Amino acid sequence: MSELTSNVEKLNSYLQRFQQNGVLNLIGGKSGPAMSGAEFETTSPVDESLICRVARGGSEDIDAAAEAARKAFPAWRDMPAPERKKILHKIADLIVERAEEIALCECWDTGQALRFMSKAALRGAENFRFFADMSTSARDGQQLQSPTLMNVTTRVPIGPVGVITPWNTPFMLSTWKIAPALAAGCTVVHKPAEFSPLTARILAEIAHEAGLPPGVWNLVNGFGEEAGKRLTEHPDIKAIAFVGESKTGSMIMKQGADTLKRVHFELGGKNPVVVFNDADLDRALDAAIFMIYSLNGERCTSSSRLLLHETVADEFETKLIERVNRINVGHPLDPATEIGPLIHKVHFDKVTSYFDIARQNGATIAAGGSRVGDTGWFVRPTLFTGATNDMTIAQEEIFGPVLTSIRFRDEDEALRLANDTQYGLTAYVWTNDLTRAMRFTDKLEAGMIWVNSENVRHLPTPFGGVKASGIGRDGGDWSFEFFMEQKHIGFALGQHKIPRLGA
Ligand code: NAD
Repeated sequence: MSELTSNVEKLNSYLQRFQQNGVLNLIGGKSGPAMSGAEFETTSPVDESLICRVARGGSEDIDAAAEAARKAFPAWRDMPAPERKKILHKIADLIVERAEEIALCECWDTGQALRFMSKAALRGAENFRFFADMSTSARDGQQLQSPTLMNVTTRVPIGPVGVITPWNTPFMLSTWKIAPALAAGCTVVHKPAEFSPLTARILAEIAHEAGLPPGVWNLVNGFGEEAGKRLTEHPDIKAIAFVGESKTGSMIMKQGADTLKRVHFELGGKNPVVVFNDADLDRALDAAIFMIYSLNGERCTSSSRLLLHETVADEFETKLIERVNRINVGHPLDPATEIGPLIHKVHFDKVTSYFDIARQNGATIAAGGSRVGDTGWFVRPTLFTGATNDMTIAQEEIFGPVLTSIRFRDEDEALRLANDTQYGLTAYVWTNDLTRAMRFTDKLEAGMIWVNSENVRHLPTPFGGVKASGIGRDGGDWSFEFFMEQKHIGFALGQHKIPRLGA
């Protein structure tokens, strides 16, 4: 039996329970359908077949989940951190135990290739372990002495929080937000993306099994404009951690304004990879290809704009075209597959619409530029050459396996082009000139920059974007800054002079 056939068989056994019961919400420790009884269908991007029905949560479900989170908050906040730490480690253990189920379900639900998703499940476990270990120091503050006062700062969890996640690598991103919220002592209402509900449900079940008290983690499935909107407006929800499109972030900010919601946004990107002529071109090529074509290009940190020095551009593009044409597009559960189908038809239509836009813009489609097969949302990895930075294909986030190549003459022009975008999430710089690397990165407008490397995530470092790519940072202690309130307490050191009124 081929590995693909065996993976499909395993998947089918994992999917049975979803097909029988649908994907249910989890509120206050109880699983159930939406209160209205409403449902929607989730389909696979591989063959457009129905996977299962999903609870379509509405305002009343969010209200119940927020109430459960509010009631569960004081006990979770006051649980000694070492006990919280044990539960979070238990969640990580159970993720590892169910890693195969998570990976197969995520591939089928999102179209992501198994070669990447099997690692994503384990990275989710690592996120829990990392923040589990940090939970014992979450409340740590500072002592800021002044002549008259011993000034102490402490931190307390902000309260129940809402977590809203997108469909790209949904499992990993959910753990990335929920683990620090729980480690900080917050309770959570999670609204996952409607297009990829399976692994969010598995994750919530795992948390429940790991002994998380009822109400600490609530899951409400549903649409952004319904359940998502209500979550951002709910008065008991003190903060929203959101990952998704920039325009949705803007909407959430408006929706949360009446309740003065604290927001943390991880949004879109149009990230440059800048290749100077003194770079190790072979390594730069590997990294540029990996960063745009892995994960179907449905990746916020993807290097979607390739800026090439004009003296190396011909050679680089020739090698790039050869490699792009050899990338293996196929069934996501086939271990040989490098690119699977895009998430859904609307997104497929959006991504493929850029093929015509590229022609209208006057660029050349040097590789790809077409659909693969006539079932499922498969597209060929695509490269646009002869582009300039003012073209639509260089300015808009396409969010698919589509790379736009642009040439530059000198460092000043490279910097101008790299920064000439509404976004500022990541940037990648390839040069062997250390002084240039320092000068250039200092001026780059991006939240995260890698020099001579692809994106390698180190959990204690800050993750986030500038400009339209986001507000706030995740990772290390930065996550706690968002999920916690700073509190200042001044202790008088002696009898300093207090102004006397009416004396
Ligand atoms: P999206 O903004 O359409 O949806 C994200 C989530 O928001 C979904 O759960 C959706 O239901 C919900 N939502 C939609 N409208 C809402 C509303 N009015 N109120 C509350 N919730 C609402 O994004 P998507 O298409 O699912 O994801 C792709 C986008 O996410 C890309 O732009 C990508 O760059 C971005 N992204 C960014 C990062 C990062 O770290 N910066 C990471 C992953 C994805």
